[in-house]
Amino acid sequence: MKKIALLSIGIAISSSVFSQQITIGDNNGSVSFEEYDPKSTLVVPQNPKTRAKFPFIDVHNHQFAMGESRDNVDKLLPDMDALNLRTMVNLSGRSWNRDLDKSTMALVDNIKNANLYPGRFATFTNVDFNTINEKGWSEKAAKLLEDDVKIRGAKGLKIYKNLGFSVKNTDGSLVPIDDSRIDAVWAKAGELGIPVLIHSGDPASFWQPLNQFNERWLELKTHPGRKKDVDKGDFSFEQIIEQQHHIISKHKNTKFIAAHMGWYPNDLKKLDSLLTAMPNMYVEIGAVIAELGRQPHTANKFFTKNQDRILFGKDSWVPSEYSTYFRVLETQDEYFQYHKKYHAFWPMYGIGLSDDVLKKVYYKNALKIIPGLDSSGFPE
Ligand SMILES: [Zn+2]
Repeated sequence: MKKIALLSIGIAISSSVFSQQITIGDNNGSVSFEEYDPKSTLVVPQNPKTRAKFPFIDVHNHQFAMGESRDNVDKLLPDMDALNLRTMVNLSGRSWNRDLDKSTMALVDNIKNANLYPGRFATFTNVDFNTINEKGWSEKAAKLLEDDVKIRGAKGLKIYKNLGFSVKNTDGSLVPIDDSRIDAVWAKAGELGIPVLIHSGDPASFWQPLNQFNERWLELKTHPGRKKDVDKGDFSFEQIIEQQHHIISKHKNTKFIAAHMGWYPNDLKKLDSLLTAMPNMYVEIGAVIAELGRQPHTANKFFTKNQDRILFGKDSWVPSEYSTYFRVLETQDEYFQYHKKYHAFWPMYGIGLSDDVLKKVYYKNALKIIPGLDSSGFPE
């Protein structure tokens, strides 16, 4: 009897008094996940970084229209100088052109304008997969790569994620990344001594059900096109990653830089085992700093062990966002905000890399792997 009485009082309280007391803001007692933006009350030392400690090379940048006007190049320099970004690697040498002649012209123009500032830019070329089903494609693609490097001045090759996501065979099926027709291209890159920066796949969460357990729920909600679905014909995450590893282990004479840490920034033990198994594999940290900033101890150990294999990259050119990268890599700051909620609803912690490791990640590894970069302007 007593228990039942208490219970009914409890119900009465929760439905009347409590519900009024917990009304928050102007949203009738609830705050949506998108709105929730708590201001931290934690008081700890703050060492924000708007400028890198050392000059650095950003190996993952996209400038599609450098060749269109001198102004498109000039306007990059003030931001680059402020960040201490000494050399920007433009991975989009051939811009976005379905027409091969147009994309070759774009590459020539992009490199011509980049050369207005010696030492400040390097340009990678791209492969034309639109014509992959035509006879003789392999030879043509390999020859084009050779000409891009030897005649036009490209310093590397960038492969976009459309290989694995949307490049198709004549029968409509997807061309796998390890399709044998592309072998000639990977081999040619090795022969030319240029690296292949390859972006394959997306975060594994994009293949997971879009529900309350998905860590990238907000990103998928705001960017529905990023959702992957094996039932709709996509390769699985595992298939894409395996195809990428297949070409890396098959072409040992070619250096591959797996973009976005090969989509294992959230499993550094796994990534460590991959780097151990594939000595010609390198990684860059574009768009995955939020993963590193939530595991400072593990990340510091990983970077220290694999210090010769990691390069600095950012991907999207938003100068103000670089400060998160500098702060995570350079400081031991605690619990500071990341710049994009749909990547990370969690705060960052600094990894606090040593100067020796930092120099390798910022520029020494890139100078070693990318041929013909200007090493003046970088400290010993
Ligand atoms: Zn990119």
